[in-house]
Amino acid sequence: MQSGEQSSRSGSRVDPWRGRYAARAAGMVASEVRALFAVASRPEIVSLAGGMPNVSALPMDTVGALMTELVAERGAVALQYGSAQGDPGLRETICEVMAAEGIDDASPDDVVVTVGSQQALDLVTRVFVDPGDTVVTEAPTYVTALGVFAVYQADVVHVAMDEDGVVPEALAETFARLEREGRPAKLFYTVPTFQNPAGATLSAERRHRVVEICRRARVLLLEDNPYGLLHLDGDEPMRALRADAPDDVVYLGSFSKTLAPGLRVGWALAPSAVREKLVLAAESAMLSHSVFNQLAVDRYLRTQPWPEQMRDFRAMYRERRGAMLDALEKYMPPGVTWTRPAGGFFVWVTLPEGLDSKAMLPRAIQSRVAYVPGTGFFADGGGRQAMRLSYCYPPPERIRDGVRLLADVIGAELRM
Ligand code: PMP
Repeated sequence: MQSGEQSSRSGSRVDPWRGRYAARAAGMVASEVRALFAVASRPEIVSLAGGMPNVSALPMDTVGALMTELVAERGAVALQYGSAQGDPGLRETICEVMAAEGIDDASPDDVVVTVGSQQALDLVTRVFVDPGDTVVTEAPTYVTALGVFAVYQADVVHVAMDEDGVVPEALAETFARLEREGRPAKLFYTVPTFQNPAGATLSAERRHRVVEICRRARVLLLEDNPYGLLHLDGDEPMRALRADAPDDVVYLGSFSKTLAPGLRVGWALAPSAVREKLVLAAESAMLSHSVFNQLAVDRYLRTQPWPEQMRDFRAMYRERRGAMLDALEKYMPPGVTWTRPAGGFFVWVTLPEGLDSKAMLPRAIQSRVAYVPGTGFFADGGGRQAMRLSYCYPPPERIRDGVRLLADVIGAELRM
């Protein structure tokens, strides 16, 4: 046996299929966030890295009882194939959920249930983006959206954002420049509310302008909104961009942060013609979503006091956000700045000039704290001076400890 064969069987790095992959596989590289998970999940490390919701706050007994009931009462349906578009009852429920964000004209016919909103992102990109097409995103942006765009060989162009979200003038200029360069934008992908990773929210005033800029430029607006109902200041959620632009926006929603990511239930709401394409794309991708999971989500929402559950979730995340912001204030050395999110899970920290969050990470891990370096959230190598911290998973005391450890690491870097 040749040594190459031997090493591939024993699981070494030699890949006998090298050179045979499709060109799009070149874009399939592990994200920095994923590579981090294994290390960050070690119990001795305070992980401010992952964006995992705290599902332990769910009433597990109730969830269990509800699933048992589901099998007893509707097992023959729940365990059967379903439609690629998703369960009609759940699609109605989804329309009620979206109404809270001002989307009051959605028809269940225009909803496609997906395997988390991640799959919706994949399907929309598959339907709209050819290799070399231009996709515009905020800078920074959601890391796994960048992963999808890479797989479909899109060219990602970033637009500046600040604490009020994407800067409309910069967006309009970028669209105009791309048009002049003969590579007009196909999609504008945005997380306008409690953004992952920056924690920023597009202001009400900018919302209208952003919609209008996309409409004029004939660029499809892809609104990704998994955090909208996790508003931590005030009683009302933000109004979705889709609420005022039914023909120009594909809206993505998810039950991952408001119920449980393990169920993998998300959705897309799209103008009818787009929706038809998405259903066909979904069919070729997976034939049928898990009917069981869809019915479980629907039953939970219809039979349980979900609005109260959401209030409890918000209270829990509000406390954790408070712990993080207080600790940042208390421990961070001068020159470090951070965002103050009005909801969601994330704070974006900017380090003083000269520090490099990626180079610093091994030293942070040695000091038993983990974060995500900013570079993962940029397609163009930006973000070295920044990092994402999440306050969703560790309890408040751990968050405080983690920020203190991190502040010590940053302080030591500054003295180096
Ligand atoms: N979009 C954003 C902005 C996210 O943060 C996430 C989850 N981290 C997703 C989409 C995907 O979520 P899911 O597939 O679990 O619905």
